[in-house]
Amino acid sequence: MAGKIIINVERCKGCGLCVTVCPKNCIEISDKSNKNGYFPARVTNSDCTGCAACAIICPDVVIEVFRENKVVAAKSNKKGKPKLIKEGA
Ligand code: SF4
Ligand code: SF4
Repeated sequence: MAGKIIINVERCKGCGLCVTVCPKNCIEISDKSNKNGYFPARVTNSDCTGCAACAIICPDVVIEVFRENKVVAAKSNKKGKPKLIKEGA
């Protein structure tokens, strides 16, 4: 199943947790810093399945996940966790 992520690089702190959990090695740490001086995560390939593991582990909730053009994880809820959205039929 095709997936895609969008990382808000300006809010990313470069902790690398998303890199460690991605089963498809889709994410790496950039060699260019963002405006806050952190080296943010970036997408490395198009093998994403949309599993959302990266979005769930991200402490700053800066990853949006799309699965076949549907958003499955985006923005934080009131507890600061990514909001998981059920896929349609
Ligand atoms: S959604 Fe899953 S496969 Fe896609 S980048 Fe995140 S962890 Fe990797
Ligand atoms: S887990 Fe979040 S804050 Fe950490 S590197 Fe990945 S996107 Fe950035």
